[in-house]
Amino acid sequence: MSRPSVRSPQAGAPAAAGGAPASASRAAEILAGQGRWLWPGMMHYYREPLVLEEGSGVWVRDVDGREYLDAFGGIITTSLGHCHPRVVEAVREQVGRLGHTSTLYVTEPQVEAAHRLAEIAPGGLDRTFFTNSGSEAVETAVALARAYTGRTDLIALRGSYHGRSSAANTLTAHASWRPLASMSAGITHALAPYPFRCPFHRPCDERCVDALALDLEEVILTTTNGRPAALIAESLQGVNGVVMPQPGYFQRVAEVVRRYGGLLIIDEVQAGFGRTGRHWFGIEHWGVVPDIMVMAKGIAAGLPVGATITTTEIASGWEGKTLSTFGGNPVVMAGMCVALDVMVEEDVRARAEARGERLRTGLAELARRHAWIGEARGLGLMQALELVEDPAMRDPSPRRGQALLEAARAEGLLVGSGGLHGQVIRIGPSLLITDAEMDELVERLGRACARVE
Ligand code: PMP
Repeated sequence: MSRPSVRSPQAGAPAAAGGAPASASRAAEILAGQGRWLWPGMMHYYREPLVLEEGSGVWVRDVDGREYLDAFGGIITTSLGHCHPRVVEAVREQVGRLGHTSTLYVTEPQVEAAHRLAEIAPGGLDRTFFTNSGSEAVETAVALARAYTGRTDLIALRGSYHGRSSAANTLTAHASWRPLASMSAGITHALAPYPFRCPFHRPCDERCVDALALDLEEVILTTTNGRPAALIAESLQGVNGVVMPQPGYFQRVAEVVRRYGGLLIIDEVQAGFGRTGRHWFGIEHWGVVPDIMVMAKGIAAGLPVGATITTTEIASGWEGKTLSTFGGNPVVMAGMCVALDVMVEEDVRARAEARGERLRTGLAELARRHAWIGEARGLGLMQALELVEDPAMRDPSPRRGQALLEAARAEGLLVGSGGLHGQVIRIGPSLLITDAEMDELVERLGRACARVE
């Protein structure tokens, strides 16, 4: 796919009334197959799901030729845009040389990928186990925490999303994402920081950090045996709607869980790899070094990689055999090494910070224009708009969330949905987005907001 001009006249779906794209033959045919052959429980965006075929940079094209500016990147994953030529080339080269080994054999791309992670990870985190997804990386992290501490109880935060496997799904604290919830024992949840909806004080202040730390302590003393294996938390809650902790929060809860002998696991699946600007990882904004860190999504610019990194001491706590058939596959490892090269060469941390400021200015202007945008928030290129029914009451507006998602599509813009009620619009484009593309993104979002108004 050649990169379309920023103001492509054919960008987006036709401006049909209500923002609904007209059904087109190829999409309709493929959607019929989806409906017949795949699980009905699979969740899709949009009243009429989007059938994508090609991508390049921040642009994607559907099977009927409509182009969209992709501001969500396949759930904040295509960190270098779609089909970055150097990543594509590395994959092509490796798949033609040696496509699969399993972890029973050693390959240079896997060693190289782990070495690179150790170079950018905070503190003494330098031992990695590779898997294929965020869920598996979370599962690996909590299993290791249990093995190392000899304890079973895990604490997560309300509103968190950690994955679809057994423990990861039980750690997840969104009713609608927990169909398997009862399957994993020994998991409870503490209150999460959520300044916009703080249950303690509005506006939120340092007293709320004290209250959250107290709540964690109470959860340890009332819902565990007092000996937690770990607290797991996202450095910024992504699925919950890009929810940022108050300054000082992570220092306090790290102190509490460690005082009770537990580890701190930080989930960087969404916030890692420069996404939040200035730093490689979200947790670095809060000045805390985790004991175990979980990564996936943007780690390899769209290739399926999960990674769990920790210290030599904690990694040595794993007893018994372990392997992964596909984890650390040479093809995705080769792609990941090149993706990390590009991230360093392009200085994605600085780019995300600069483009993030441009985005923040645009979102703040939209929030001024529309009273139903309760808050514009986020860091770097992980930002969001929280939509409310009544600005004074701040009651969540899932209906506006849904309407804005559809309206953005009609304007040729893909954004994400989030929040417990679907009241948040999430934005996480390629870290290589240009200023002109960012301006286009904000302009399209502005037109979509006007449609919702
Ligand atoms: N952790 C976080 C913070 C996530 O956002 C996700 C996915 N949305 C996961 C873990 C699970 O990742 P995956 O879908 O790759 O299993």
